[in-house]
Amino acid sequence: MDKTALKTIVIIGGGAAGFFCAATFAHRKDTRVLLLEKSGKWLSKVKVSGGGRCNVTHQCDSIADMAKKYPRGEQFVKKTFHQFFVPDTISWFAAHGVKLKAEADNRMFPITDDSQTIIDCLMRKVAQQQVHLKLNHHVTQILPEEGRYRIQLKGLEDIVADIVVLASGGFPKLDQFDWMSTLGHNILSPVPSLFTFNIPKHPIAQLMGLSVPNALVKITGTKLQQSGPLLITHWGLSGPAVLKLSAYGALALAEANYHFSIQVNWLNDFNEETLRAHLQYYKQQHPQQKVINTQGLQMPARLWGFMLLESELGPEQRWTDLPAKLFNKLVKNLAAYEFEVKGKTTFKEEFVTAGGVDLSEVNSQTMESKRHPGIYFAGEILNIDGVTGGFNFQNAWTTGYIAAQNIAATLER
Ligand SMILES: Cc1cc2nc3c(=O)[nH]c(=O)nc-3n(C[C@H](O)[C@H](O)[C@H](O)COP(=O)(O)OP(=O)(O)OC[C@H]3O[C@@H](n4cnc5c(N)ncnc54)[C@H](O)[C@@H]3O)c2cc1C
Repeated sequence: MDKTALKTIVIIGGGAAGFFCAATFAHRKDTRVLLLEKSGKWLSKVKVSGGGRCNVTHQCDSIADMAKKYPRGEQFVKKTFHQFFVPDTISWFAAHGVKLKAEADNRMFPITDDSQTIIDCLMRKVAQQQVHLKLNHHVTQILPEEGRYRIQLKGLEDIVADIVVLASGGFPKLDQFDWMSTLGHNILSPVPSLFTFNIPKHPIAQLMGLSVPNALVKITGTKLQQSGPLLITHWGLSGPAVLKLSAYGALALAEANYHFSIQVNWLNDFNEETLRAHLQYYKQQHPQQKVINTQGLQMPARLWGFMLLESELGPEQRWTDLPAKLFNKLVKNLAAYEFEVKGKTTFKEEFVTAGGVDLSEVNSQTMESKRHPGIYFAGEILNIDGVTGGFNFQNAWTTGYIAAQNIAATLER
């Protein structure tokens, strides 16, 4: 690279990753940084994220534990987090006037509970770094040209850059990656992650709004299973157990065209065997009690009533004269209730796509392309996605930061 000429760095995408890259790239007199955004708005996902509060990251001090929350990219983030991890995110925002707080489930938000605080902070910082902000700049092609990159824009003049950061987020369809096709990177076909399960015309829908604190949901015929709170909705099942399962099963479920069977254990403190033993003991202790009045199970009364109906037990049924066949049916319904899932519903609170730029073609130490020197990647454009809880933004901060530091290091050479 010619040391004397002014260098142009173009960051494509005005979202979390692009902004963090621009914000953490220290201003230099020999460089101009342009941040291009195709829409008319900066940081639009940050604005709506976390129900308008922005779930910035997830409180966690173990890189290995955190990495497990990424169904795609686990091995890659293990490496990137060594350079910029959760404590670095917390310190960076604190140093720039934004205190983060952790909630009981370890999700972290700004103490203002307002995503605008994060936007204001990033906007201030990129202004200080003298980044040139360009809205309505839609990149349509990137052409390698004598060691530099010609960036074609919709309806505007080309820009020639020495270094390009691709931080354009994820796209739901493969052809939406066409604008970067000249770079020849392998793209893993995108499929949705983080969705809820549709169970059409099932009587359980009468119980919409009810939840159980600890259920286990398994996809029949696979090893896929997840536990956690489970919510009954008017169209099917939702809640953390289902969302996590949708993320880890994203590829398999897409292949099954969202038509599959699940088994639900509503009382995941027990398995079928221990539940059977528990209920046998309860029966011996309370023979005259009506089954409907059973105490001590972590299940709303209306769901318990539904389970009894599904097990052909009437409201007057007492434990003492419960036939063994119906006892077995009850245990089965509680520990392995079967549903046919037909379709999915996008989880609007935090929608991400699985798929994107093949990680084997990106250097995890620098975020530079292994195919083209001077091309960097950051954020959801990569084949990295996390479950809900602040993991996706943490990936955006980490990869944006690493790209910025390594671009600076390259310019020093
Ligand atoms: C409703 C919602 C809520 C969410 N809440 C959370 C949350 O609380 N916590 C969390 O961790 N994650 C959350 N996520 C996920 C998180 O928002 C994303 O993972 C994250 O925004 C990815 O950042 P990014 O910068 O890579 O991409 P994006 O934020 O998608 O930004 C990419 C930008 O690039 C622009 N762009 C695309 N193509 C071009 C082009 N050709 N030329 C120029 N510009 C282009 C896009 O317009 C966009 O503005 C949420 C997602 C949604 C949809």
